Formats: sequence, structure tokens, C-alpha cells
Amino acid sequence: MSKLVIVGTVAFDAIETPFGKTDKILGGAATYIGLSASNFNVDSAAVSVVGGDFPQEYLDLLKNRNVDIEGIEVVKDGKTFFWSGKYHNDMNSRDTLATELNVLEHFNPVVPENYKDAEVVMLGNLHPLVQQGVLNQMTKKPKLAILDTMNFWMDIALDDLLSVIKNVDVITINDEEARQLTGEYSLVVAAKKIHEMGPKFVVIKKGEHGALLFHDDQVFYAPALPLKEVFDPTGAGDTFAGGFAGYLAKTDDFSFENMKTAVIYGSTLASFCVEKFGTERMQNITDKEIYKRLEQFKTLTQFDIELS
Ligand code: AMP
Repeated sequence: MSKLVIVGTVAFDAIETPFGKTDKILGGAATYIGLSASNFNVDSAAVSVVGGDFPQEYLDLLKNRNVDIEGIEVVKDGKTFFWSGKYHNDMNSRDTLATELNVLEHFNPVVPENYKDAEVVMLGNLHPLVQQGVLNQMTKKPKLAILDTMNFWMDIALDDLLSVIKNVDVITINDEEARQLTGEYSLVVAAKKIHEMGPKFVVIKKGEHGALLFHDDQVFYAPALPLKEVFDPTGAGDTFAGGFAGYLAKTDDFSFENMKTAVIYGSTLASFCVEKFGTERMQNITDKEIYKRLEQFKTLTQFDIELS
């Protein structure tokens, strides 16, 4: 089993969907990634920053799921990163209403000493310089560095983002962001262009339409599990990334074949995330529930066809 370093926001989110509205609740990329990866019992640590306004019980929640929180700095007189978003009726697209960087603005990440040799690094959504800062602190080159990002960073820090993208093995990105990053509409062409930027593996997330994994000329596709109810898609992408990274860290096998399974685990965990607001559903998933959904996935996607 590998050690896993998780970088990303630990945040307050205010979310509005056609089903309701929340006040400031627990959110953030590292939070969702950590909760998701914790289902694989890997040795993981989160690197992030919060303000003095951040409740200890939220930090304890990660700690209780065995995510090491030594690398989450608390700036006593600062305010926690805040994001607010509103989903359209199709739940596939959203508008960002507010992004307040607050303590993120002057954040210098510190990787805990005994995670500096971690084999897997999951660079979740955060300023690309912070992502690079974490990579720089690793004393051994990680076996696998995975990067997730979003349009916000493409808009304000594209050059820094392109620099860090060069140094990772896998990128996970959603379809619109892949198009924005490459200027290509076709996701196949976009994936090829992203390969040329550095990453050997490109995962393009397509929300309720599943995810694509590209490696050279190989492509794998996993649908999203069709669900009766979707309450809040917030964090689904991060949860996917956490499941993907968690599974790879647990199995210590970074081949294309094993990444296909990692995509299925990522999709499975994301299917739980969207069932309730915020992180609520992610706080108590059982192994039995995960197993059942993996079975559903198999039934959904397996077929026999006679080719003569
Ligand atoms: P997702 O729905 O997977 O894209 O992730 C949503 C999470 O990303 C929320 O919990 C937000 O706190 C966090 N988030 C939103 N905007 C940013 C940003 N610019 N940088 C880092 N994290 C963000």
C-alpha cells in the first residue's frame, strides 16, 4: 500500500440546487478527496489551510476518517476559503456566485515530514503554484502525481497551471475545462493535446455522462451510475478523484488496466456524493454499499456480443 498526499481547498460552501439551498457548510476539494479516499484505508494526509472561523468538528471529521490533518494550517486571524454556486435545472451546469480566496491568498503549503516520501500525490483544485510547491517538497519523486483543476485557475493563473501540468502523470479534468484548456471541442483531440502538455494519462469527467480515460491511443469509458435522485453534484469531481487516487494508492499498480478499475471506483464513490447536500453522504458509506454499487456497475456495462 502506498502513502497518499492530498492537496486542495478545505472550505465553506453555500450551494443552491433546484432541491434547496444551504448556508455555509463544509466543502472543499481536499475534503471531498479525503473522505472519498478514506474508503480504501490508505495512509493519507491532507495539505491545506483554513481560518480561525473553521469549526474544529469539521477537522475532526477528516481525522476520524484517518486522514492526517497535520498539514492543514489554521490561520487564527484569517477567514476560510468560501465558494458559492447555483445549479441550473439540468444539474449538469452551475454558476459560481462567489469565490473568496481569503487565507488561500498567502498560503505556503507544508507537507508533513513523514509524508514527503509518499508514492501518490493527489493535487486537488488549488492555485497551481501551491500544487507545484507541494511537488517540490517531495523528497522522492512520487510514483504517481495526479492533478485536478478548474476553469477558475485557467482564467487567473494559466502559465503557472501549464508549468505544473508538465510535471504530473495524470490529469483529471471536466469536459468543459478540457475544451477551455486546449481550445478543442472534440474530447479525443483535447486529450491528445493535454498528453502533449505532459500527463501520460488524461481523465475527462463528464458529470452524469461518466468519465473517459485516455493513454496514448487507448481509451476507456465508464458511464455514471443512473441514479433515481441527484440532490447536489458539488464535490462529485473531487470525490471521483479521491476514489481514483485512493484505489491506486491501495493497489500500488499504476498500469492502464488498473486505472480502468480506478475509474470505476471513482465513479462509484461519486454516485454516493450527489445523493445528499455537501459532504453528508460521504461521511458514512459502508464497504457493503460500495460493493453493491460496483455490482450494479458491472451489470450496467457488461454485455455479450457474438462477433463473427
Ligand atoms: P467539484 O464540484 O468537484 O468541482 O468541487 C466543488 C468544490 O470545489 C467545492 O467544495 C468548493 O469549495 C471547491 N472549489 C470551488 N472553487 C474552487 C477553486 N477556485 N479552487 C479550489 N477549490 C474550489
